[in-house]
Amino acid sequence: MPELKDPAIGTTPAAPPTVPDRLRRDQSVAKSLFVGSILEENLFPYPKIRARDREILGSVVEAIDGFLGDKDADFRKWDREAQQPEDFIQGLRDMGLFGLIIPEEQGGLELSNGAYARVLSQTSTHDASVSLTIGAHSSIGMKGLLLYGTDEQKARYLPKLATGEYIAAFCLTESGSGSDAASIRTSAKQNPDGSWTLNGEKIWITNGGIAQVFTVFARTEGAEGKITAFVVEAGWPGVSHGHHEDKMGIRASSTTIVSFADVRVPPENVLGGEGKGFKVAMGILNSGRTGLGGGAVGGMKTLIRLASAQANERRQFGAPIASYGLVREKIAQMTIDCFAAESTVWMLAHYIDSGVEDYATEAAISKVFASDAIQRCGSDALQIAGGNGFMREYPYEQIVRDSRILSIFEGTNEILRLFVGLSGLKDAGKALNELKTAVDDIFNHPIKGFGMLSGYAGQKLTQATGVGRDRIASRLPQELAEAQAIFEKYALELSSASGFMLRKYGKSVVDRQYDLKRLADVAIDLFVGLCTLSRAATLAAEGDANAEQAISIAALFSQQAKRRMAANVRRLTRNEDAGLDALAGFTLERGSYAWDVL
Ligand SMILES: Cc1cc2nc3c(=O)[nH]c(=O)nc-3n(C[C@H](O)[C@H](O)[C@H](O)COP(=O)(O)OP(=O)(O)OC[C@H]3O[C@@H](n4cnc5c(N)ncnc54)[C@H](O)[C@@H]3O)c2cc1C
Repeated sequence: MPELKDPAIGTTPAAPPTVPDRLRRDQSVAKSLFVGSILEENLFPYPKIRARDREILGSVVEAIDGFLGDKDADFRKWDREAQQPEDFIQGLRDMGLFGLIIPEEQGGLELSNGAYARVLSQTSTHDASVSLTIGAHSSIGMKGLLLYGTDEQKARYLPKLATGEYIAAFCLTESGSGSDAASIRTSAKQNPDGSWTLNGEKIWITNGGIAQVFTVFARTEGAEGKITAFVVEAGWPGVSHGHHEDKMGIRASSTTIVSFADVRVPPENVLGGEGKGFKVAMGILNSGRTGLGGGAVGGMKTLIRLASAQANERRQFGAPIASYGLVREKIAQMTIDCFAAESTVWMLAHYIDSGVEDYATEAAISKVFASDAIQRCGSDALQIAGGNGFMREYPYEQIVRDSRILSIFEGTNEILRLFVGLSGLKDAGKALNELKTAVDDIFNHPIKGFGMLSGYAGQKLTQATGVGRDRIASRLPQELAEAQAIFEKYALELSSASGFMLRKYGKSVVDRQYDLKRLADVAIDLFVGLCTLSRAATLAAEGDANAEQAISIAALFSQQAKRRMAANVRRLTRNEDAGLDALAGFTLERGSYAWDVL
């Protein structure tokens, strides 16, 4: 069994992050876009993978390919049987795949977010269920201990979690509480001795049937009935799990109910402080999104490899189908989607690894884009394979089934789009309010007026006065000049549209879901496009062998994005929303389709 832990590598001191000094850790690129500002310091040049990560990843990727590379038939079998055999999970333990992000001093590999995402990308080129087993453990199961654990909690749990002796799971969802996570009913009541009694049932818990440690969210008394996170061990009296769910995809991974019946939790197992559970849950989910994004990119790379081989080999009408425009269009689109998703996921990882304070909006964008992209890719690859794509004998249908979950869990893409729209508007609103006060003040007390502006309002004002930061100053290749102009133009369009929405709807903007989705989609196209632009420009500056194609991808993405952004902005004022809403009302009230040709 290949072992990931190379002692020579294990002792390499963590290298300082290779971030440009000018990185603004106090600012969010995505939110800045809503005030028309392109936060160039955080975009250019495209970040390099750290030297230590590069060193470790070489051997890790090789070991993963060595271990998983010959198991295609097994993965197919385990998908049908809906299980991963224990000796295979033991193999994952032996390779150190449960200790990827745990500090070296606790026995882990201490990978950065970027390197961790790259590992999940590699496992996903082989099988999504494998990625989910190790990803749910690291990204969400034990992440709370890393982010919010006390020294004592870390010392107690992390060494066992690093070896995989303990596998972790994240228990938030309940039958009555999915997207609305704040409505959970699982309760924890404090006893006179300070311990807690936990009661409730969590559903669809990844690793539920194989985990020894759960991060559980429960409603606690006091602290205004807030939510608190607890570390709970599977072996404690009253903890049990249900049967392995029969799922559409990622079938081999374990998904079960986890129940808590009068479970006594010692006070020292409160995680992140009493009443702080919602913040803990959101912090875990935000910082875990690179794992999901990395996995999606790995899946897309497999789809591109399979589809390219199929297109080159399959002949129809006397020629390889790869010679036909409608097949080539799909191959090109898959390549654009994969490059764009990869550029975005690793930009996000760079923000997290570099200590950027607020990356929640970028994390949501990266999750939404990568999960949508792999589903487009899967559909196209399956189509290129024709009838074979539909057959279980071929891998396409499984990848399509496996990737479907990505837009549902860890926050549905609908909720995350609303989050992107609202978090951007919130800052734009703040900027507008400050701007209004400041502009009033400027006439009376000019110095005070300018002095009170926040970063965003300042940007807005400089923009309004023509000295804005809505231009990219970095020197980009000439071939990207048009792409640059598109993103600069639409950052301003997003800012104007946000201002319009805020003035027209005020606080009730939160209920304008059709419009929020449009704003979010513009922000997604802008942020993803800028990451893609930055990467292509940096590859060109470095003389990368495929820089020409990378530049072409960035240019193509910008043109496609321009059409989508133009439509989204236009449809804020000219749309069929009212008609659609009325029709939905009709069908929902009726509960069925109203017509028949009979
Ligand atoms: C295979 C699998 C593994 C999972 N693993 C875990 C795990 O390890 N731990 C865990 O805690 N949970 C897990 N989950 C649960 C998952 O996170 C939830 O399914 C997800 O959060 C969505 O909740 P829901 O299914 O209840 O859907 P709902 O919240 O009921 O949503 C249903 C639909 O309504 C939409 N919707 C809901 N509210 C709104 C709104 N306000 N505006 C617009 N649209 C809305 C949603 O986007 C969705 O399309 C898992 C689920 C699955 C299927």
